[in-house]
Amino acid sequence: MLLDGKNSAKEYEDSLRLKIDQIKERSGRTPHLTVILVGNNEASKTYVSSKKKACLRVGMTADIRYLEEDTKEEDLISLIESLNRNDEIDGILVQLPLPKHINESLVVNTVDPLKDVDGLTILNAGKVFTKTGGVAPATPKGIMMLLEKYNINVCGMHAVVVGRSNLVGLPIAKLLNDADATVTLCHRQTRHLSTFTKSADLLVVAVGKKDMITKDMVKPGAIVIDVGINRMGGKLYGDVSSEVSSIASYFTPVPGGVGPMTINALLHNLLELYEVRHDC
Ligand code: NAD
Repeated sequence: MLLDGKNSAKEYEDSLRLKIDQIKERSGRTPHLTVILVGNNEASKTYVSSKKKACLRVGMTADIRYLEEDTKEEDLISLIESLNRNDEIDGILVQLPLPKHINESLVVNTVDPLKDVDGLTILNAGKVFTKTGGVAPATPKGIMMLLEKYNINVCGMHAVVVGRSNLVGLPIAKLLNDADATVTLCHRQTRHLSTFTKSADLLVVAVGKKDMITKDMVKPGAIVIDVGINRMGGKLYGDVSSEVSSIASYFTPVPGGVGPMTINALLHNLLELYEVRHDC
């Protein structure tokens, strides 16, 4: 069965729109997101535009700051600091990856944690990892929301996560563990990967390699979440080979699975941060 991220995100948007209308009625304004894009990466241009459009669809406002590829690190940091001070801006998102000459971690951690819609600052990550609040990164949060939409309770399941980035693999492993799954986290150095993937009730793959997971690596009836995005010849492919859908109980399509839910989770993060900052 398809885990339809596109339709689920649409349903979540409908309920968000109602909340945003109420906020607008109460306060005369709606949450505002500022997205920063440095450079000319074509995929990033598509992502930032989708994020802005999603904000507008639910009645929030958004703007995109386009900066040149050779923008100096200190200029980017000054811009973020001024956005941090601006009370009209409720969320700041720096589109990754950044050009090589810019220290990504330094830039991400310049964002005020109370405006960090991506949940990537050290403070937010620490709060999520210690279960003391904070906002979770959008992709892992979106995956959990998608599972919830389909009433999939992961409690007691063996969840295998392939990939351990701060953006996806590591935080989704944490969220699944918090939801009482037993989690195995695999990565580039994992030996005999298929031994682990074959034992998974729930398999999450976030690597960035087309056909990384083939049918013989998946247990029949498993739930398969494909996070990967690989662009080839103008088309998008996930990390999981298409034949896996014939044996999985549930699977996410690429595109139309995790991607739309990531954007939706971002909107939820923006609203959550707005509510914390405005004490509502
Ligand atoms: P990353 O490059 O930071 O991390 C990749 C991970 O894969 C690493 O932890 C690495 O150890 C692991 N890995 C690499 N080769 C492996 C192998 N042979 N066996 C096992 N593990 C291996 O990437 P990321 O930022 O986590 O993104 C992963 C994929 O997810 C990319 O395709 C990215 O485009 C996609 N992505 C999609 C969304 C979305 O909204 N759908 C959001 C974020 C990332």
